[in-house]
Amino acid sequence: MSEAGVEKVVIIGSGPAGWSAAIYAARANLNPLLFEGTPQPDMIPLGQLAFTTEVENYPGFPVGNVRAFVESSVAEDRHYNLPPLPKGHEKNGQPHYAVQGVELVELMKQQALNFGTRVIGDDIVDVDISSQPLKVISRDNGTFAARTVIVATGARANYIGLPSEDKFKNRGVSACAVCDGALPRFRNKPLLVVGGGDSAVEEATYLTNFASRVYMVHRRDSLRASKIMQDRALHNPKIEMVWHHVVEECLGDDKQGLTAVRMKNVNDGSIREQPVVGMFVAIGHTPNTAFLNGKLEMNDKGYLKLTKPFRTHTSAEGVFAAGDVADDYYRQAITSAGTGCMAALDAERWLAAQGFE
Ligand SMILES: Cc1cc2nc3c(=O)[nH]c(=O)nc-3n(C[C@H](O)[C@H](O)[C@H](O)COP(=O)(O)OP(=O)(O)OC[C@H]3O[C@@H](n4cnc5c(N)ncnc54)[C@H](O)[C@@H]3O)c2cc1C
Repeated sequence: MSEAGVEKVVIIGSGPAGWSAAIYAARANLNPLLFEGTPQPDMIPLGQLAFTTEVENYPGFPVGNVRAFVESSVAEDRHYNLPPLPKGHEKNGQPHYAVQGVELVELMKQQALNFGTRVIGDDIVDVDISSQPLKVISRDNGTFAARTVIVATGARANYIGLPSEDKFKNRGVSACAVCDGALPRFRNKPLLVVGGGDSAVEEATYLTNFASRVYMVHRRDSLRASKIMQDRALHNPKIEMVWHHVVEECLGDDKQGLTAVRMKNVNDGSIREQPVVGMFVAIGHTPNTAFLNGKLEMNDKGYLKLTKPFRTHTSAEGVFAAGDVADDYYRQAITSAGTGCMAALDAERWLAAQGFE
């Protein structure tokens, strides 16, 4: 029986995890309500993919005339949101490129809307999950009661914070080697990784598959990474450590993108200019969990803890988590979409088990 004024499923977040959860919940007749957030300086509706250009590794989207498909699927009143077509990717007079981040998430959103997902463009600023019904509190639209909540608020890649770094994002500067490392612009060229932890070593090692050389820049003279990861970096002939340095500026131009990085030696103040076509920033991510005000169990980095193996249950009854907000390891669009599906199925089964139909 459906209860007046109480949602069966509220989804918070508008990246691949949120839309996948919405598609599954809507098709299960759970009439989901999704909060997609509002634009913030380092976070936007449609999630992290909206910050990138071509996405080459999402299954089902080989290079092709993607725009024709996108325009035929996405409602016309949202076409204004589609990014400009990448230049120089024509074949037989048609655009021919890998799907762009915004296009991919717009398609996910459309699929969720087609099945009746209701969407509110607002941020959730607090929750009350101490008893049923659960409550989510929005910034501008009041409080909503719900039997289940799926948290799919994602994470933000940390950057150094230089204006020149911002200028070259998607044109040499990246925060994801697995996402961008194989792009043609980085092949057989010198690249640079910033950071000294496990993920920095992982990024650098992965990039050696494509790069002519990988410089690892770290402000100290030893890595924070685990011993096994350190050995991997220090014994890789393609990786060169640049100890005691910090990146001061990204150099390049509009035509070529990033061409070099200027670094400062923190010990003696000397300057080194290193020609590179790519800078991969690997100084961690910040999960978007502040709005939960510590009401769900998190790990020491603020990521939500999942309490059952291979399930999406969190520490609160009826609250599930999907995507990067609960994943500091894989951090990919496809894994986020996968766990979004899992969260919707877990919510559906939880509702049935509790007798909330
Ligand atoms: C530059 C870049 C390039 C990438 N390229 C690739 C790639 O090529 N392939 C790949 O597989 N992965 C790529 N990734 C990683 C991928 O984008 C993420 O793994 C994926 O987007 C995570 O999806 P998500 O649904 O968990 O959350 P996100 O995509 O992080 O989306 C969550 C969204 O929820 C909304 N939200 C947050 N808090 C609230 C709140 N309190 N209330 C309401 N709404 C809220 C925000 O709008 C936020 O953006 C890339 C990431 C970056 C940064």
